Amino acid sequence: MTVLKLSETAENILRDVWMAEEEGKRLKVDSVETEALEELKREGLLTVDGGIIKLTDKGRKKAEKIVRLHRLAERLLSDILGFKDVEEHACKFEHLIDDEAEEAICTLLGHPQVCPHGRKIPQGHCCIEKETEVEKVIYRLSELSPGDEAEVKYTVADDRETRMLISAGIIPGVGLKVIRVYPAFVIQIENTQFALDKKLADAIYVVRRG
Ligand SMILES: [Zn+2]
Ligand SMILES: [Zn+2]
Repeated sequence: MTVLKLSETAENILRDVWMAEEEGKRLKVDSVETEALEELKREGLLTVDGGIIKLTDKGRKKAEKIVRLHRLAERLLSDILGFKDVEEHACKFEHLIDDEAEEAICTLLGHPQVCPHGRKIPQGHCCIEKETEVEKVIYRLSELSPGDEAEVKYTVADDRETRMLISAGIIPGVGLKVIRVYPAFVIQIENTQFALDKKLADAIYVVRRG
């Protein structure tokens, strides 16, 4: 079996069409480079219908993979490497990650569900199997024990929960200590303690400190 190798421009077009669809938009044919578009048509990854670019099933699968790599790269750059502006770097990075590195990065990050912009990361094999060949760095707060100290990296919550978290000061970069895990999950931030229900403790992703 040969692995289909596309040009970077072609990969970017696939990614952009997929992301446009995610937002309920369409990508027009005149907004992309013709040569790369022809390459994608030739490989059966997309079709053009009335000036609108559409992914084929094969194209959608390939695009989903590229989006996954892009968003994993964003997480890696922001969570582990501490980059503030991840977009530009992620765009270059995504083309360099092979399957083996993809699973290692995803596992290292604890199989994250969203990118730093809050967009969904398509799942990979490793997320379904939850392999732990690489030691995890990112934990859900609910996985920690009393006495553990951690730093908040990101949260995956709905709008109402996000407002609650923000008003309690539970935001990326904040340090906290786990006081109790039963009957309620109690954490301390500076001198204030907060009780969280299981769902909220699940929604907060942290790295251990100390
Ligand atoms: Zn993103
Ligand atoms: Zn994974």
